[in-house]
Amino acid sequence: MDEPRAPVPVAEVDLDALRRNVRRLRAHLAEGAAMLVAVKADAYGHGLVPVARTLVRAGVEALGVATPDEALALRRAGIDARILAFGPVYGPPLRRLVRAGIDLTLTDENDLRRAVDAAEDDVPVQLHLKVDTGMGRLGCRPEAAVALARAVALEPTAELAGVWTHFARADELASDATEGQRRTFEAVLARLAAEGIRPRIRHAANSAALLAHPATHLDMVRPGIAVYGYPPVTYAPGPEGPLEPVLRLRAPVVFTKRVQAGEAVSYGHAWRAPQATTIATLRIGYGDGYPRALSNLGEVGLPDGRRARVVGRVCMDQTMIDVGSADVEVGDRVDVWGGHGPGADALAERIGTISYELLTHVAPRVARRYHLRRSDAAG
Ligand SMILES: *Cc1c(COP(=O)(O)O)cnc(C)c1O
Repeated sequence: MDEPRAPVPVAEVDLDALRRNVRRLRAHLAEGAAMLVAVKADAYGHGLVPVARTLVRAGVEALGVATPDEALALRRAGIDARILAFGPVYGPPLRRLVRAGIDLTLTDENDLRRAVDAAEDDVPVQLHLKVDTGMGRLGCRPEAAVALARAVALEPTAELAGVWTHFARADELASDATEGQRRTFEAVLARLAAEGIRPRIRHAANSAALLAHPATHLDMVRPGIAVYGYPPVTYAPGPEGPLEPVLRLRAPVVFTKRVQAGEAVSYGHAWRAPQATTIATLRIGYGDGYPRALSNLGEVGLPDGRRARVVGRVCMDQTMIDVGSADVEVGDRVDVWGGHGPGADALAERIGTISYELLTHVAPRVARRYHLRRSDAAG
């Protein structure tokens, strides 16, 4: 890996690790289940198009997005896989999505009217009926599903491609909420089947359900975070090993200095050296997406594999670490998370959030660098 010359933080995205994670997750799937991977929010901060391309080459059957722009960017990049827009779409983007062959979410009669109005005569718009079985976010009530599905069947320019739901607590192994939601969903599917309505793609499982609730796999699973290397539940890895973080956030050391006992570091003097030590200044801060909440709490991986603590307040562009007696020089790169550093999930936990938030907050000014073995690039 060639290091860039400029002393700037870099997000290194290992597309080979991404492919390995897809393979590892496949090994957990119920027979016949396809995989849609969530690539919303710039593929959880990893970079939408390079990630989506890699996923499709790795055999992923579909992609999930949150916004019309994300869907259209994928089509513009030549990705012709099935794409599902997770949320309702209104206004001018709707027609563009329909023309681009994007599958749409259906939650009520208004969604259906709009989709039919936007549909072309020759290609029916593909709809996934979303049922709220307990997430309390989007979707029709279970009792309303049959009427909506019947209404779709009456429209020559609309087709019911799928029926789906989303779990609220699949990451809580002690909770029976997921099993309750699953039963509610199965009851809806049975009522649809009694009406002769059998949508081809029944889907429910996010990463946590994929790993912890195999009965929810149905025709397709919808993992996000696990594909990026952060399983939201403890699970038993298969023969290909545990999932690995795909994004390694690295920052350069731009300054080092010795400090004496009692000397303070950074805004508010929120840290004072308990004894003489060496402080290294990193070129990364909350303006790059490294949370200010990690002041005095963060930890980074040094080139020699040791860990060093963040000391004092995280600034917008800089963060200080106590490297003690470690051999650290200007120009060295530390692993802020991933690599020798802590996982984004472990850091997130220290500050009361989740890996998803850290990953999606890596700022646009942080360059993404992609690694893919040349021999695999074509395959
Ligand atoms: C983001 C999202 C997922 C993926 O969730 P993870 O917890 O990252 O696996 C699946 N389904 C929907 C509807 C989502 O919005």
